[in-house]
Amino acid sequence: MKALRLVQPGRPLELQDLPVPSPGPVDVLVRVKAAGICHSDAHYRAGKSRVHPLPMTLGHEVAGLVEQTGGNVHHLKHGDRVCLHYLATCGTCGYCQEGTEQFCADGRMIGKYRDGGFAEFILMPARSVFKLPAEILFSHGAIMMCSSATSLHALNQARLRPRESVAVFGAGGLGQSALQLAKALGAGVVFAVDINPGKLEIAARFGAVPVNAGASDPLAAIQDLTQGRGVDVALELVGLPLTMQQAVRSLAIKGRAALVGITEKAFPVAPYQEVINKEAEIIGVSDHLAREIPLLLDLAAKQKLDLSNVVTRAVPLDAAAINGTLDRLKNFGDDVRVVVEP
Ligand SMILES: [Zn+2]
Ligand SMILES: [Zn+2]
Repeated sequence: MKALRLVQPGRPLELQDLPVPSPGPVDVLVRVKAAGICHSDAHYRAGKSRVHPLPMTLGHEVAGLVEQTGGNVHHLKHGDRVCLHYLATCGTCGYCQEGTEQFCADGRMIGKYRDGGFAEFILMPARSVFKLPAEILFSHGAIMMCSSATSLHALNQARLRPRESVAVFGAGGLGQSALQLAKALGAGVVFAVDINPGKLEIAARFGAVPVNAGASDPLAAIQDLTQGRGVDVALELVGLPLTMQQAVRSLAIKGRAALVGITEKAFPVAPYQEVINKEAEIIGVSDHLAREIPLLLDLAAKQKLDLSNVVTRAVPLDAAAINGTLDRLKNFGDDVRVVVEP
């Protein structure tokens, strides 16, 4: 089969010919129909995040058709439409048993620590393979497995309850999913905070109250719009110390700030006023969980998570097309999502 692989960081991905892998007893061989090209893939190719071992087939946002199943797989059959939770885990350790498999010591993310979806076929343990409802396009099924799944996990980590208020800091790909999912889970008012008027406009179309952080102080705006109360849940999706601080400061009494964006830098917290006195919480969000995927797919099938505003463009499994897309991601951001369709 053909596969697009990272051979050396800092170099273009290379098209290689590999044998089609054969499934072990609990594995599923999936014929790839769509694999999203993510901003992380540009980081992997540049050597900013470790990919191991090399060469490695990239691609962690994958949907396709079941080609072949191992002898112990009974809930899937040849021809089923599926999408993949991007972690392949052991299924038996304490973390896997508890359903917090992102901490499994044997966990391997596809497209980073085991071969991913920029290929004609991919092998995955059946516990990470989910049926994709007929209403959801392969391209949407693929890209949901990264940003939308993480947005849902962030809301779960923040323990969002019906009618609570939410502020989403960052109205990009993650944010557009997060605010729709917050609404679908019964949130009251949802604020979308960003400096990009175009993104705020899309957020408003999904029912969020736009807060333009480029035009005025977003904290003052949120205080004003909540009669000085603040929000019950704040999601930080940007990965900047400033927005992390704003997320914490925007909280109401008993509020929870879930941090998703990644930064190495510290941000200041005033312990008494901002956390202790309010019994507020600052919560970390890492990846997402396999058991969250069925709800995510259900919401998308019912159109409560609408990805049609996410413009997708397809490219073939071709080195020049995929490397070109990664070049553009590096330079311009990811407003248009590109999927590989082998
Ligand atoms: Zn991704
Ligand atoms: Zn495990």
